[in-house]
Amino acid sequence: MEAVEAPGGELGAWSRDGDEVARAFEVEPERGLSGEEAQWRLEKYGPNQLREIKGRSIWSILVDQVDDLVIIFLIVTAVLSMVLGFWVEGVAVAIVVLINGVLGLAMDLRARRSMQALRELEEESSTVVREGRPVRVGAHELVPGDVVLLEEGDVINVDMRLVEASRLQVDEAALTGESLPVEKGGGALEAETPLAERSNMLFKGTTLTRGTGRGVVVATGMATELGGISALVEGEEEGDTPLEHRLNKLASRLIWVTLGLSALVVPAGVLAGRTLEEVGMTAIALAVATVPEGLPVVATLTLARGMLRMADRNALMRRLASVETLGATTLICTDKTGTLTENRMVVRSLALPSGEVMVEGDGEGARLVGGGGSGGEVEVREALEVGVLCTNASIGHDGQAMGDPMEVALLRLAREEGVEVEGVLARMPEVREEAFDSEVKMMATYHRLEDGRVRVAVKGAPEEVLAVSTRWRGEAGEGAFDEAERERWRRENEAMARRGLRVLALASREVADAEVAPYEELTFVGLVGFYDPPREEVRDAIGECAQAGVRVVMITGDQAATARSIAAQIGLVASEDAEVIGGKELRAPEELSEEERERVRAASIFARVSPEQKLNIIALHQEAGEVVAMTGDGVNDSPALARADIGVAMGQRGTQAARETADLVLRDDRFNTIVYGIEEGRVIFTNIRRFVVFLLSINWASIVAIVVASLVGAPIPVTALQILYLNVVTDVFPALALVATGGASELMRRPPRSPKESILTGHHWGAIGVYGVVIAAAVLGSLAIALQVMGYEVGRAVTVSFLTLGFGKAFHALNMRDLAARGGDSDARVSPVMRNGWVWAAIGLCAGLLAMTVYVPWLRGILETVNPGAVGWGLAVGMGVLPLVAIQVGQGVVLWWRGRGVG
Ligand code: ADP
Ligand code: MG
Repeated sequence: MEAVEAPGGELGAWSRDGDEVARAFEVEPERGLSGEEAQWRLEKYGPNQLREIKGRSIWSILVDQVDDLVIIFLIVTAVLSMVLGFWVEGVAVAIVVLINGVLGLAMDLRARRSMQALRELEEESSTVVREGRPVRVGAHELVPGDVVLLEEGDVINVDMRLVEASRLQVDEAALTGESLPVEKGGGALEAETPLAERSNMLFKGTTLTRGTGRGVVVATGMATELGGISALVEGEEEGDTPLEHRLNKLASRLIWVTLGLSALVVPAGVLAGRTLEEVGMTAIALAVATVPEGLPVVATLTLARGMLRMADRNALMRRLASVETLGATTLICTDKTGTLTENRMVVRSLALPSGEVMVEGDGEGARLVGGGGSGGEVEVREALEVGVLCTNASIGHDGQAMGDPMEVALLRLAREEGVEVEGVLARMPEVREEAFDSEVKMMATYHRLEDGRVRVAVKGAPEEVLAVSTRWRGEAGEGAFDEAERERWRRENEAMARRGLRVLALASREVADAEVAPYEELTFVGLVGFYDPPREEVRDAIGECAQAGVRVVMITGDQAATARSIAAQIGLVASEDAEVIGGKELRAPEELSEEERERVRAASIFARVSPEQKLNIIALHQEAGEVVAMTGDGVNDSPALARADIGVAMGQRGTQAARETADLVLRDDRFNTIVYGIEEGRVIFTNIRRFVVFLLSINWASIVAIVVASLVGAPIPVTALQILYLNVVTDVFPALALVATGGASELMRRPPRSPKESILTGHHWGAIGVYGVVIAAAVLGSLAIALQVMGYEVGRAVTVSFLTLGFGKAFHALNMRDLAARGGDSDARVSPVMRNGWVWAAIGLCAGLLAMTVYVPWLRGILETVNPGAVGWGLAVGMGVLPLVAIQVGQGVVLWWRGRGVG
């Protein structure tokens, strides 16, 4: 739909007053639009989205398939075959190229479609005011005139004129290239003000790095400034993943091997007096045999499948390539609130000047039950009033809460205790807010009183509020807040924190006007202790991590005592007196002594950590070779998320800015989802290994068989067309089946693989070499028996050896247990591959496809097979099973040997 210019589009919103702009858009900043009006405008102006991101054309994907060296090699082979007069072979290879292209295309499209589906799960939402109530709506539903509530970390998805702002700072780099955040707010500007200086406007594509505010939408979709800059809008290209890259390199190396071997085989054949035709056939067969056609495609499919499985369990991978790294994670740095705990805060206790008041009940019906003190009602009222004033949260008539869980908990308790939230706000309307800032750790709101004076309500971290309080007031009177009093409250705070409570301090003050700075000469009101229950399932997940060789470290903005208590409850540390390192001690690695570094590396709990200090923790651990996963939710966490090997953002609690830099987004915010992700990452990596080893070893088997046969002057055991049939038709199924192998529990019982390890280690190369030779020996043996013992003519004997190769390859899938010392599945009693039903089904399918080569007349014609008869079949199947038996025995011996070495 063509973007329609909004009513105030020509207005120059930055040069008008906020109220004027709101009027032009027919909206009241306090009430917002009505639902109907918003719906009507949505139809009129269209959804808030930029032009459809252009998908890649099928053609360009097809060209992509062709530019890979393997395909070029096959095309050259096809052309050469035809030039040399091997028409059928040439055409067959050409068909393979085509099938390969189409298959690659189909899988590529599938993978892309899954990625698209994943991206749609990430659709962002905004909080808007509709009919006087804040509601969340999807970003594409925003319309001109909507009133948007802004919060630190929001990525702005429309253009708007600010009507309210507190400490707003915006990163506009995406739009203006300015890398430093700019301050926003204030009144009307000159009409000529250039875009980059329109400080009362927020633009689509920029990020709120600090503060809160309210804005009226002036443009959506293509009508925004960003929409005007079309270059920024074009879709980003998905490049090859490093994995595909490495696999492609591997495949091209194999091609050089073939060329080398052909250089050996051709002259040897000529010397042995073979006809040129025979030698040519051998060379073509060899060329075809070497190329592992399915490799890169199966790899992409494996990664995509893994991502879909993870998405089903709320773990969204934002980059295909990170799946590999995820499995190698050795250290998880996790925050506490909401990840290890439920983020379902309830007020448990109020510490007031005349004593502590306990609160009982869950979130919905919490109520006071009295306590040690006189239970002074006036003090409770005063405290709850500050809590109700100093808030951005709200509870609707239906009980639906929006906003920070701590603030919601305060509102709930206030309601339960009969504090009229609406009444309090009507009596003392808010005139200004000093937004919460994780550096300052406090927030304040200003409220106009009836006599014209202004009341400041403050809440924040206890040590900060105590430091700036100079008076106290309670039922027993009021007085100066001296050092002794301050110390008493510090101890009170400490005692509450040790019970696992998250503590906030409340304070207030009366001033002449709203311009006075907030955090000075406050009157202390009391402390509030919130309880946030640890998530039940976390304890098990931490145990699982310990088994899997993954360390878990808690990093929180909360205070030490609270952190320690929760850590002990979830089994992260053994005792309540575990060491806690405070944020202040976390300096850059080069400023720490070796001893201090060791201390930091050994610690499991970090408290009062600011987002910048997270970088130091990551750096120290990465220096020691750890692969670090780090969680984050705030906009300030972005650098840490980018720096970590796996940045983990919270889908519910987190800011959009954090999500955009993360590698992994937890849709449910749960710690267990990270652990699940690591598990799945390991499964995926191991399965990639499985099919790579599988495809390479069976290719190697064909090469060995052909080269040896041609060097000793025997008939070539498989023809070029037969090899093609095996490579393109039958091999694909076991390879794909291997991808679906489970066995996560075994993988989580051993330490992670070394991150430096490539897909194949020396161990794997060795195994490929041995496997190939064993299978080739069976094929050559089968050929020899057919010729010498059974006395078959050459065509029939070759059919037998071809079938032996076919069966040998199919059965070989069952050998794909990873015996690597680290990260494999040698611990499993029964190999996970044997338990994978798909592999058995694939073998059955292969058997059917092999039978077809003999019994379907036209296939028999093309592949030049001869019915081998019952005995011939027996020979082929028997010799085909032999490598499986031999390799299984060999693996058993290796495991026994290793077990003996260890035990
Ligand atoms: P965390 O949420 O991990 O504790 P933050 O940086 O968000 O880390 O908060 C740091 C401290 O600031 C909190 O422990 C609390 O004392 C205080 N705080 C957090 N949110 C608010 C808020 N909305 N209003 C006032 N103080 C807050
Ligand atoms: Mg927080």
